[in-house]
Amino acid sequence: MKKVAFYTLGCKLNFSETSTIARSFKDEGFDRVDFKEKADIYVINTCSVTENADKRFKNIVKQAQRVNPEAFVAAIGCYAQLKPEELADVNGVDLVLGATEKFKITDYLNDLSKNDFGEVHSCEIEDADFYVGSYSIGDRTRAFLKVQDGCDYKCTYCTIPLARGISRSDTMENVLKNAEEISGKGIKEIVLTGVNIGDYGKGEFGNKKHQHTFLELVTELDQVKGIERLRISSIEPNLLKNDTIELVANSRAFVPHFHIPLQSGSNAILKKMKRRYMRELYVDRVNKIREVMPNACIGVDVIVGFPGETEQHFLETYNFLNDLEISYLHVFTYSERDNTEAAVMDGEVPKNVRAKRSKMLRGLSAKKRRAFYESQINTVHTVLFESENKEGYIYGFTENYVKVKTPWNPELVNTTHKVQLSYIGEDGVVRFEFLPVLAI
Ligand code: SF4
Repeated sequence: MKKVAFYTLGCKLNFSETSTIARSFKDEGFDRVDFKEKADIYVINTCSVTENADKRFKNIVKQAQRVNPEAFVAAIGCYAQLKPEELADVNGVDLVLGATEKFKITDYLNDLSKNDFGEVHSCEIEDADFYVGSYSIGDRTRAFLKVQDGCDYKCTYCTIPLARGISRSDTMENVLKNAEEISGKGIKEIVLTGVNIGDYGKGEFGNKKHQHTFLELVTELDQVKGIERLRISSIEPNLLKNDTIELVANSRAFVPHFHIPLQSGSNAILKKMKRRYMRELYVDRVNKIREVMPNACIGVDVIVGFPGETEQHFLETYNFLNDLEISYLHVFTYSERDNTEAAVMDGEVPKNVRAKRSKMLRGLSAKKRRAFYESQINTVHTVLFESENKEGYIYGFTENYVKVKTPWNPELVNTTHKVQLSYIGEDGVVRFEFLPVLAI
């Protein structure tokens, strides 16, 4: 039996797709092994957002070759679509598949002899107009369920539309079927993933217009029996409507956790980024969530060092976030991407200034997270425990994404428990008391 190993870079969407591709290998009779083990084929699912994507890719190829110099190495994913020739030139790479080909990878593996140069099969991104459903399972306690792909927005810094194509969605029927399948396998939490999931419904049944709305999707998913928790991953602020927030507040399974990209707290920079909202809308969204779910966790994506971002713009962002009742930040340092509008804009911010701004916002994020955790001490939650033993501890997350830990106990793996949060440990992780299960 041939052995195959996978390495995934980037987002939850890539993880869900790797998982689906790995299942297709299994169907073809391959045995999946860990990336550190000797395999006949190594598949690397790449990301274009990753910092130093080329360097990281080369290192991963080297890692595979150290374990088995004879192994066949294939690159798929966003970076493979954007820069196929660059990846094909990397020593040891045999095959590069673009956006339309990656799900057919097993068709390309009849001959596993090593090539002097990587063979490229890629397409014009306009051809990536069909939808392939995916979900991850078995890799984690949570499943990532893809409901949408691609993006029709034109944010000036972003390469994702070039790597993944237009916005398109899975059918409602298929999403519900996948959700049932996942819950049937004992997975307790599903995280909805996509490039722009608030745009769900567009491209469903091949139609450019919306067939269903995101609200209809989450309403239906909430009814699927057996799923204990559903989490909306990242959603654009202009697409996060009041009705969705209210549905989550009153829902059976959707947890009070939102991740909403902001990118900048300066309206001037938001305009240059071609984002589809102003900061006032963002405040409105956060206030609405807080009004109906005071304990909700709200995460924010923010970019520092965008071209033209002056000290004044940055301080606007810093103060905006400081004043906002949010729970943590994901800070991205802007870096130029080929073929984007932003890459040729004036006002380049020096690298050291970008690094300083990033450090300041990461400090703010730590402060926000701590304040959020503190606000949750002595409150009661349900924790879902994960599956890894990390230096004698097991970790878990509450519905509202507070990270907790307790000494390792294999019986806790993938189980939910009522707990009362007690205090924040020196490591920044929260400790708790188990609460007795009340007989009904
Ligand atoms: S919304 Fe903007 S940043 Fe997000 S994927 Fe679409 S173009 Fe990129």
